[in-house]
Amino acid sequence: MNSDNSKIRRSSNVGGGGIYLGIGGNIGDRELNLTRALTIISAHPDMRLLRVSSFYRTSPWGVTEQPWFLNAICEIETVLYPAALLEELKRIERILGREKSTPHWGPRAIDLDIILFRSIVMRTPLLTIPHKHCTERLFVLMPLVEIAPCIVHPETGVSFRNYLDELLKTQPEEACLKYNQIVFKKP
Ligand code: ADP
Ligand code: MG
Repeated sequence: MNSDNSKIRRSSNVGGGGIYLGIGGNIGDRELNLTRALTIISAHPDMRLLRVSSFYRTSPWGVTEQPWFLNAICEIETVLYPAALLEELKRIERILGREKSTPHWGPRAIDLDIILFRSIVMRTPLLTIPHKHCTERLFVLMPLVEIAPCIVHPETGVSFRNYLDELLKTQPEEACLKYNQIVFKKP
């Protein structure tokens, strides 16, 4: 990366986390794929892994005729701006064997999404932050509230715990079960 490019991609105004990534997969050894993604993130020169939720075994969402997913949320810090972070996450997805042709919401070895980027609100053709579906998905809300019980949606001011409580009125808790109490250890 040349220095001009890095000026666009990176910020020196780095705070203390508040960037939450969704990690999921439903092909192959799901636990291994999630752990591999976390290992790459924790070793990435532009990211710092701060916290990782438990892993959750979840029913497919959107396209329901496909195998179960394993999902988690991690909190990171990064010097990258959101678009550059998304590029890096897509690169990690490719390293871990995600096919370019993966259909939207279809089966995949790994899916890395930006759920929240501090209190940033943005909508571009490539990137919506907070993630478009973050208040409708148990597999986002359960692990998010597990590691960040007090955070609030930056656009609505509503707490994510509140969204979770509302969703649990209409969706069975079994749709998103704690898989194990994984405490991710940095290599
Ligand atoms: P999903 O994650 O909803 O299952 P995909 O992983 O197939 O679907 O995402 C398709 C596209 O969604 C990505 O190529 C990316 O450009 C776009 N996108 C928009 N907002 C986000 C976000 N917050 N995090 C990750 N991808 C996003
Ligand atoms: Mg995605």
